[in-house]
Amino acid sequence: MLTRRRLMRNLSYLALAGEFTRESLLTAQPNCGRGIHNDVVWLDSNENPFGPPPSAIKAIVDGAAATARYHFDEFSGFAEALASSEGIGAEQVLFGVGSTEIIDSAICAFTSPSVPLITASPTYDILIEFTQSMGRRVVQIPLTEAWGFPVRKLTEEAAKAGGGLIYLCNPNNPTSSLTPKSDVDWLARNLPPKTVLLVDEAYIHFAPPAEIESAVKYVRENKNVIVTRTFSKIYGMAGARAGFGCAKLELIRAMEPFVDKVIPILALRAASAALADRGTLVPTRKAEIGRIRSELCNWLQQKGIRYIEPSANFVMIDIGRDARSFGKEMLLRGVAVGRPFPPLNQMIRVTIGTDPEMQRFREVFWQVYAG
Ligand code: PLP
Repeated sequence: MLTRRRLMRNLSYLALAGEFTRESLLTAQPNCGRGIHNDVVWLDSNENPFGPPPSAIKAIVDGAAATARYHFDEFSGFAEALASSEGIGAEQVLFGVGSTEIIDSAICAFTSPSVPLITASPTYDILIEFTQSMGRRVVQIPLTEAWGFPVRKLTEEAAKAGGGLIYLCNPNNPTSSLTPKSDVDWLARNLPPKTVLLVDEAYIHFAPPAEIESAVKYVRENKNVIVTRTFSKIYGMAGARAGFGCAKLELIRAMEPFVDKVIPILALRAASAALADRGTLVPTRKAEIGRIRSELCNWLQQKGIRYIEPSANFVMIDIGRDARSFGKEMLLRGVAVGRPFPPLNQMIRVTIGTDPEMQRFREVFWQVYAG
């Protein structure tokens, strides 16, 4: 299926690559394995180079024949497993075809032609385009100087609009930065009337635990808060398409009409297997990606290149020149980095890959940077 995200990704490659042969680009697909693949190192979409854990691969292989049926009977058990992993009730969980389906359902449920989406800039822009495509207003306020969400300004906008959906991405994409715990806490406790807060925690597992606390605690406190999570990042299963949201029953009921409540059976089984492994899988991957990320940051420091302090599996690097042409030069040399994220037009977003992939990144980056 060509999703909005895949379409945008393909279009941005074509725009970036120019002379670069289309055929080689469109046939070069990430293999989700280790190492350098198909001559291009893909560090553009914040995927996890370690891919699905063995337990999830086994579940997919073993379950292939099960695709004959819908398997409605397995959905409640999946919701229960997700709920118990977050310490909430199964009725407070909504799973989806990636967290995208849940985020989209929140936009459908809690914005309207007169009620806006309120967020910071830059942030995860796919949902902004989705909201605008429905003719709904998006209010965007710049991130703070420390790259956090400006929580007080967000509430002022919601109060002015008579309510709305506030979207806060923590850690934020594309900046990889955190909003301080105290700010998230203030926001969750000071929401204006008719305002719902959506905290997108797609990258939470990569952040230092001392500096972040999941907003699921506000769901447990019955606040007007939705938290979304995904199996695409730490679990390395972006192509499987499994994600979920947590919220109080009233909010779940409002979102339910906008989701299928059916995800592919292989995604469900793979996600269940990965979830069961989370006790070892999450800390191991977090440590490994954290180590590779620190090595990249040390290298950038040695070279005197500035970057935003990262808390996710990607780093926003200040290259001091046009990001689009820089990315194009890198792609021509076989390394794909993220597309430009206005207004940060002189920064490139680089996903953390394996050691050999990052070695290749450093070589190519330096060739282009030092000219
Ligand atoms: N939220 C953020 C901040 C993301 O960066 C992404 C994907 O890159 C998503 C949500 C969507 O993830 P999923 O694959 O679960 O739909």
